[in-house]
Amino acid sequence: MKKPPLIATLEAGGTKMVAGLATGPDGILAREKIATTNPEETMGRLVEFFKIAVGEYGEVDALAVGTFGPADLNEKSPTYGCILETPKAGWAGTDLLGPLRRVLGGVPAVFETDVNAALFGEATWGAAQGLENAAYFTVGTGIGGGILINGELVHGVGHPEMGHMRVSRHAEDGYAGCCPFHQDCLEGLASGPALEERWKKGAEEWSPDHVAWEIEADYLAQACLNVLMIAPPERIILGGGVMHQAQLFSLVRARLAELLNGYLAYEELRGDLGSFIVPPSLGDDAGLLGCVALGQRFILPPQAR
Ligand code: ADP
Ligand code: ZN
Repeated sequence: MKKPPLIATLEAGGTKMVAGLATGPDGILAREKIATTNPEETMGRLVEFFKIAVGEYGEVDALAVGTFGPADLNEKSPTYGCILETPKAGWAGTDLLGPLRRVLGGVPAVFETDVNAALFGEATWGAAQGLENAAYFTVGTGIGGGILINGELVHGVGHPEMGHMRVSRHAEDGYAGCCPFHQDCLEGLASGPALEERWKKGAEEWSPDHVAWEIEADYLAQACLNVLMIAPPERIILGGGVMHQAQLFSLVRARLAELLNGYLAYEELRGDLGSFIVPPSLGDDAGLLGCVALGQRFILPPQAR
């Protein structure tokens, strides 16, 4: 049997990077966490990791990166593979892809957002396995979103910024919002830091029936409703630190049903929405496996996948 392709992977986050070398869920050969400090130091350590990993496991077939944003995903752009204007000190304009690709001998490369990579991983091996249409929100320090439609990740002129969509304010919510650009966009009202600033304590400390979760679920249900109206997915995955509050899932489902009010008759929307709004299932491996799936798809013809 032909060897499965070996993919070099990078989940690039604002706090940490996770570099890896893998062939699939049962073939994670190497993985290393590297702190995201300044670009020189972090890129230096990443290049070093890949040099050593290739020395140990052999040449890779492709490189796939899932990065924090905003990032330039447009292959025709002169700044393709770079981080764009980010408040993260020193990182604006950093070429993330180029140096890694060079150390790997110029292999084919895929450059995606972190949430698109996680979505692609879930659609290949996880909570949306086999689906051609799915969406993913990560609700953490920020809110990110990705959409897969007809098997393709949506990019457009940039990449989706679903965390910054507008939502209607909940009647009992007097909190101004914390997005530095839009104040009370989805991220401004429903991210982890918004919860903490609004309620003045760590989210982990409240009981599951605190009104905080009802308000949070209202915003997340509005976000799901908006996605449904624009690019209807068969399933929406909600992940990120805030979704560790497992009671949110049934609250979001119930509120989404209310907001839909019988509109849209897709089969996926019948019943209690238990298989429409779901948690991710790949856990800490989602980003890495998403990159493996992206890399494989990029280099293998469809019939060989
Ligand atoms: P990041 O977005 O930084 O990559 P996370 O997805 O873990 O990382 O999100 C971190 C945010 O999630 C923080 O704002 C934190 O307050 C919030 N968070 C983490 N765990 C929980 C929890 N169990 N309940 C509620 N909020 C949480
Ligand atoms: Zn915003």
